[in-house]
Amino acid sequence: MASAYSLAWDVPLLGRNTFHVDARAHCLATVHDATALPSLLAEPALQNLPPMVLGAGSNVLFATDRFAGCLIHLQCDSARIVSDAGDHALVHVDAGFEWDVLVDWTLDRGLQGLENLALIPGQAGAAPIQNIGAYGVEVARFVAAVHVYDRQAGAFERLTTERCEFGYRDSVFKREPDRRIVTAIELLLPKAGATNLSYAGLGEELAAMGGLSPTPRNVAAAVRQIRRRKLPDPAVAGNAGSFFKNPVVTRAVAAELQSRFAGVPVYPSSTDDECKLSAAWLIEQAGWRGVRDGDAAVSAQHALVLVNLGRATGPRLLTLARRVAASVQEKFGIALEPEPRIVGATF
Ligand SMILES: Cc1cc2nc3c(=O)[nH]c(=O)nc-3n(C[C@H](O)[C@H](O)[C@H](O)COP(=O)(O)OP(=O)(O)OC[C@H]3O[C@@H](n4cnc5c(N)ncnc54)[C@H](O)[C@@H]3O)c2cc1C
Repeated sequence: MASAYSLAWDVPLLGRNTFHVDARAHCLATVHDATALPSLLAEPALQNLPPMVLGAGSNVLFATDRFAGCLIHLQCDSARIVSDAGDHALVHVDAGFEWDVLVDWTLDRGLQGLENLALIPGQAGAAPIQNIGAYGVEVARFVAAVHVYDRQAGAFERLTTERCEFGYRDSVFKREPDRRIVTAIELLLPKAGATNLSYAGLGEELAAMGGLSPTPRNVAAAVRQIRRRKLPDPAVAGNAGSFFKNPVVTRAVAAELQSRFAGVPVYPSSTDDECKLSAAWLIEQAGWRGVRDGDAAVSAQHALVLVNLGRATGPRLLTLARRVAASVQEKFGIALEPEPRIVGATF
């Protein structure tokens, strides 16, 4: 029988993070069977190595040349429908399943909901970590449960949605990194009526595509088309998508900002007394769009994306991110918070 996991030492990470940062990891554990996690974590050779789960590396910035711990990469990747209750179906997906492949897998089975989240890179197991979201939809809306191995409790657990404490690009998993290793997710997906066109650009894109009707498949196609046009491709310029979260502020703060600066875009937030600002707008107004520091740059295509135009190191990218945030803070008095996980440094 094939081993449930394998260990490798002094591992290059260049091909394992979408920023294409040339760092190394002391150890990498590749896990083929999540039930073996307790044995893996009990390995004598790993006892003094802090573990960190690494999926596809599309939301991390290695800000150090060397990660001194053990990266855990889950490769279990099956998906199945566990129950079908008429208008909904419950889907169980292993953590290692590729997210964008899952979107098509569900559409192929007549299930809806994930189409707005098409083309987000990464593994399914990472989706609940920052509650991935795009084009008016967050994955939390469809998460029925998250299966984890809780290192603190030394036990496998099934966390229902309430226990995941999902928020805007946030969850209990993000707030307590490395405590719980997500081994699988359960999604409850409707068969009809879930198409979400709240993001205005989607309707416009469908119209531009020849007046396509908003079927889930067409919405996925429109989302993919918009994303390819708007976002820099990590295969061409390394990046981790949006580098900063959109700041959530009180309505009073937003009003004060609008009184000082013309045209500040303000969006609804999850609570009535708060609203969301556009981090991209703030960065652009502070003059950072397209600014380059060596091979580290603020994308000229999208001000919210930091790009590695060649051989930028993690520390160089982090320095640029800090300069951008400091300048937005100085000009607008708004603190920007990074979205990706920064490994080996604090922001
Ligand atoms: C071009 C581009 C576009 C993007 N667009 C979006 C977008 O529209 N919306 C959005 O929300 N995100 C977006 N992202 C960010 C990213 O794709 C998502 O956050 C994705 O879910 C990360 O998956 P991953 O497997 O690459 O995780 P990684 O980057 O490997 O890990 C991210 C974090 O999750 C943790 N983690 C990963 N897997 C597990 C697990 N199984 N158990 C416990 N912890 C785990 C890691 O330790 C780390 O803290 C984009 C990124 C890129 C490069």
